[in-house]
Amino acid sequence: MFESIKFFVHGKKIYINDQKNGYDLGELATDFLNLKEDYKPMFDKMQKVKEKAKEYVESQNLEDWWELNNYLWDIDKVLMRYKLFKAARPDDFKLFEDTMEYTGQQRLFPDDNIFDLKRLLPEPIEQEDGSYRFKPTDFTEEEAINSIMNSHTLMIAPGDRKAKWTYYETAINKYDEYLHDIRAPNITIQNFIDYGLAHLTHLNPSNYAATLGNYLTNDRWYKWIVNPVQNRGDSFIKKDDVRMWHFPYVIDGDENNVAIFDCYEVDTVQALLKSDFYKALSVGHLIRKCKHCGNYFLQKRAYHTMYCDRPSPEDPNYTCHQVGSRVKKELAANLPKSRSWKRAGDRISKDAERGIITSEEKLKLLSEVRDMLTAAITKPGIGDDEFEQMLQSDVLYPRFGISRRTKPRGRPKKATK
Ligand SMILES: [Zn+2]
Repeated sequence: MFESIKFFVHGKKIYINDQKNGYDLGELATDFLNLKEDYKPMFDKMQKVKEKAKEYVESQNLEDWWELNNYLWDIDKVLMRYKLFKAARPDDFKLFEDTMEYTGQQRLFPDDNIFDLKRLLPEPIEQEDGSYRFKPTDFTEEEAINSIMNSHTLMIAPGDRKAKWTYYETAINKYDEYLHDIRAPNITIQNFIDYGLAHLTHLNPSNYAATLGNYLTNDRWYKWIVNPVQNRGDSFIKKDDVRMWHFPYVIDGDENNVAIFDCYEVDTVQALLKSDFYKALSVGHLIRKCKHCGNYFLQKRAYHTMYCDRPSPEDPNYTCHQVGSRVKKELAANLPKSRSWKRAGDRISKDAERGIITSEEKLKLLSEVRDMLTAAITKPGIGDDEFEQMLQSDVLYPRFGISRRTKPRGRPKKATK
């Protein structure tokens, strides 16, 4: 859990907190954009955490706390698979371990006050002359110190059970906040990559920037930028609160190589994620979505490719790139599926020409049907007829949240005499 994240940018690298060897700009964002199937289970678990927390507050039963701690821990374990979280969270973070131990062992001691600091330490009483005298306790000083050292007083947070729970509740809220905070920029940036960057013919930082400018300001794209109205309060923030300063640092431990770094401190994952992404584009790093496995990958040099070089999901002996070449060959062979796909493409283009859908909706649909074709060719189970059906406009458009605008047609004029 963290309150704020510091990061430092120099050249084509980004460094998180006290990290020595940074990441390539865009590497963190790429990794995080691939958090897809992982999101829903975390979100569902969070609802369970919140329900259980309510139960605990009512029951004060440590079993409830123990159980919800496991749910929250599960969420943390998933987040920690991502570089950004791993780098941002302090190494000495032991909340879940502490809570497990505390709620597990404490059940044996129904009276929490045994470990209440106030009872163990002598209480200072102010005298008339302003000096203090200590009220004797039932324990000797040595007993008190031993009890504290062996107790759970310092676990989770200092204080009694109530104080610990209050602290734990802030952690629950923080994780809930993370889950909301990562959704908006992730979806917005994915849409920008898939429907904006993916269609560029000339790959250079100037074009990336111009496309981004259009995406962020042109009203026609608003649907693809996550906004609170349509997304349960989640929002892609266009202006983040950031503290910024400059400071000279040694690069890669080489004392003769010092540079002034841009240093930032932010309070949200979103702010870091966007900085990494934007700065990556500025130095010519491009993030793409593999047309085969659907994962995002970072390209540090500009060249056109639709496939990543990772092992393909169906057959790890081949990379996505190799499978992609096979798809291209099958397309050229003019099989029924590729004919269906070409016809669907024509229909979509025609609808855009007639103004029944916008040109942005066209780009989205073309990109989606291309993905559907790749899936239909490489994964068994979809028949030719079934594929043709899936591509019919009345099935296809609603699937991607696009409705066709019928043009107002005037009634045929009555012949007047
Ligand atoms: Zn791939």
